[in-house]
Amino acid sequence: VHWTGPRVRQTFLDYFEKKGHTVVPSSSVVPHNDPTLLFTNAGMNQFKPIFLGTIGKTEDFAQLKRAVDTQKCIRAGGKHNDLDDVGKDSYHHTFFEMLGNWSFGDYFKKEAIEWSWDLLTNVYGLDPNRLYVTYFEGNPEMGLEPDLEAKQLWKDVGVPEEHIIPGNMKDNFWEMGDQGPCGPCSEIHYDKVGGGRNASDLVNQDDPLVVEVWNNVFIQFDRQADKSLKSLPAKHVDTGMGFERLVSALQHKISNYATDVFTPLFNKIQEVTGARTYTDKYGKDDVDGVDTAYRVIADHIRLLSFAIADGAAPNNIGRGYVVRRVLRRGARYARKYFQAEIGSFFSKILPALVEQMGEQFPELKKKQDDIKEMLDEEEVAFAVTLDRGEKQFEKYAALAIKGGNNKLSGADVWRLYDTFGFPEDLTKLMAEERGLTIDQAEVDVAKEKAREASKAVKDTIQTFPKLNVHQIAELENDVKVPRPDSEAKY
Ligand code: ATP
Ligand code: MG
Ligand code: MG
Ligand code: MG
Repeated sequence: VHWTGPRVRQTFLDYFEKKGHTVVPSSSVVPHNDPTLLFTNAGMNQFKPIFLGTIGKTEDFAQLKRAVDTQKCIRAGGKHNDLDDVGKDSYHHTFFEMLGNWSFGDYFKKEAIEWSWDLLTNVYGLDPNRLYVTYFEGNPEMGLEPDLEAKQLWKDVGVPEEHIIPGNMKDNFWEMGDQGPCGPCSEIHYDKVGGGRNASDLVNQDDPLVVEVWNNVFIQFDRQADKSLKSLPAKHVDTGMGFERLVSALQHKISNYATDVFTPLFNKIQEVTGARTYTDKYGKDDVDGVDTAYRVIADHIRLLSFAIADGAAPNNIGRGYVVRRVLRRGARYARKYFQAEIGSFFSKILPALVEQMGEQFPELKKKQDDIKEMLDEEEVAFAVTLDRGEKQFEKYAALAIKGGNNKLSGADVWRLYDTFGFPEDLTKLMAEERGLTIDQAEVDVAKEKAREASKAVKDTIQTFPKLNVHQIAELENDVKVPRPDSEAKY
């Protein structure tokens, strides 16, 4: 069989449906009813009320015992932020699909482990010699036992001892928060090299060639306010597998980007920009930066389109600012590496995405016109300052280099943001390209100063109720409005 993306996804859903799971739709990437969360970042988000025991008897999932889905996830801000890795490595995206199966007080470790192994090795046909599993090693200080039950279950399905690896709190113990449901997890890692080598040393090392594909969480405790653990009467299973990572293993690719999940987007980028084709390299091999730019843009159009389709419009705060930052970052890559004209660049890539993912996620098709409009509007707004901002950046950079300390000052970073709309992470990236450092503490000081200054202005203005149009615009939009010199002081 040839494992195309859609077939990989469907096979997962079918497998668990046959095991009595209800196929549920992905929830929105904009979490409803959860102000603590910037974006949906895992499959379990929409099931949180079930785990917390707060679900109402008449709510949708109240009767659910087993569920399976593919969840749209965004990790570009908040607790999970993979934005800085995107483009530089081959397996972190800002937007990705998480395949997952759940048991709500129904089956537990034995079935979860047996099924995940059966699916990967017998159904998908992955080579067991390339698979490694981890189990929680325990933490005596926290009063936590090692998860020997999971270890034994992996042995029982036939995983050789040297492929079963202990993992620490950070990788192998999951907690929702300071209190509440938690438990050990077991991860499955895939060695992209194979050839009979033993890669057990590379598991949990963030090695690009030995990649975590699937996490099985066993929710068996309830952490109390006094930090003690109570055994849960109803135990749950919560799993998450990176769809793009699985596809890449099944298509025998080193990089997620070399799969049919991304190639249609690359082809479109190439068609639109006339650039040379993508050459399937990553990280330090990418001497001219063009491959990185391909990866960043293909990644970012996915985040942008799904975020906008689900109602997260670009703006200046929270969620909307993540969307804005991602667009500005992507636009600058497009201009620098593909000499693309900024204004309607992303919307030219959009049709390829809609064609590729519109069937599984109909909201993309339905909202295509809105997405296009919003992308263009946002790009045009940035295009106005991008050019001047880049020149300004070059000036600052030249001064920093001449000054000999190769550091961009916090005030410069702030000015690029305040006057030219360059998000801090974009400036950081540009500085990195030029071998310049940025001191975050300095940036924070500059930010604080600006905040105090604008507060002082507002305080004075409030005592004079008659404001001119510029002042009103400034107060409402929190921006500086250019005005004739004669009005410069008020
Ligand atoms: P990693 O250690 O590689 O950053 P993680 O431990 O943060 O992954 P989990 O929170 O366990 O990831 O999520 C479950 C699965 O989702 C992972 O095993 C992985 O396959 C996938 N995944 C996580 N983050 C990303 C991402 N940024 N892009 C693509 N897939 C991801
Ligand atoms: Mg991670
Ligand atoms: Mg991990
Ligand atoms: Mg994990």
